[in-house]
Amino acid sequence: MKKISIVVPMYNEAEVSKECYKRIKEVVYKLPEYDYEFIFINDGSQDKTLEILKTIARTDHKVKIISFSRNFGHQNAVSAGLKVVTGDVILIIDADLQDPPECLPDMLKLWKDGNQIIYGKRKSRKGESGFKLISAKMFYKTLNALSDVEIPKDTGDFRLVDRKVVDVMNELPEHNKFFRGLFSWVGFKQKAYEYERQKRFAGKTKYPLKKMLKLASDGIIGFSTKPLKLVGYIGMFSILISFLLLIYALLAYIFQFGNLTPGWASIMVAITFFAGVQLLSIWIMSEYISRIYDENKGRPEYIIDEKINIE
Ligand code: UDP
Ligand code: MG
Repeated sequence: MKKISIVVPMYNEAEVSKECYKRIKEVVYKLPEYDYEFIFINDGSQDKTLEILKTIARTDHKVKIISFSRNFGHQNAVSAGLKVVTGDVILIIDADLQDPPECLPDMLKLWKDGNQIIYGKRKSRKGESGFKLISAKMFYKTLNALSDVEIPKDTGDFRLVDRKVVDVMNELPEHNKFFRGLFSWVGFKQKAYEYERQKRFAGKTKYPLKKMLKLASDGIIGFSTKPLKLVGYIGMFSILISFLLLIYALLAYIFQFGNLTPGWASIMVAITFFAGVQLLSIWIMSEYISRIYDENKGRPEYIIDEKINIE
């Protein structure tokens, strides 16, 4: 009997956690040919999420809980879940039911056909703000322009993944994992599964702008070295400009045109321009250096406070 592991990260999802469990449970009930397990990751919620999950786990031993000591972020929660799964095939799904669990049977069919990664592709997105839609679009455009691997647009972390792929993912030592990119990067047999993204069942998004920016920078810095090269291009361009200015100034001096005597404006422009270039370069480099620093420290991605129903 094949086993499905369902990985659900939760941060302050008290309003949806029970419904989430119920809806997924109804789906797996209708798949008697499969065994299953739930892995709920409580990502340092401040509300009653953990209590609710514990109540569920008391009556259902297929429910396993990992609870973080504080909020470590969505991607780290997924990472922790993937490390403990025991199934042959793994479903990663958001708690808020925006990705309908009812897609699972169709996705399983694609898996049985030999696909190893079945990623959910959003045909439409309901109930999401205009800002979110536009920023997501811009992000994927930039990411794909910069990145060395093609990252499918309109996909999130909703995925059905073969055990083999998860084993590979668990072996990757890097921190600040950007799963959408990594799942694309690892290769294997991939297949898009189109679905309608639903409205959040209850509660508000747990991805404020700050977390979106962190995710975006993990995606770009983690999958591209082009920003580094960009600094080189800007540097070369500014040197070229300075040469042109120099030639212009010399010619103006020799042939007495342009009335350059005050000189103030050109100096000011040059100073501010180069200061800007330098600051930008330092900013981009510091992004990389900070990642190197992070990896060097070898800090764990997360710290588990307790495990329930897990040896
Ligand atoms: N999440 C998490 N830790 C966080 C933020 C979010 O585990 O720091 C979980 C959240 O509970 C949900 C999933 O990640 O199950 C996606 O978050 P959300 O639905 O709020 O994001 P959105 O759909 O608005 O992009
Ligand atoms: Mg959501």
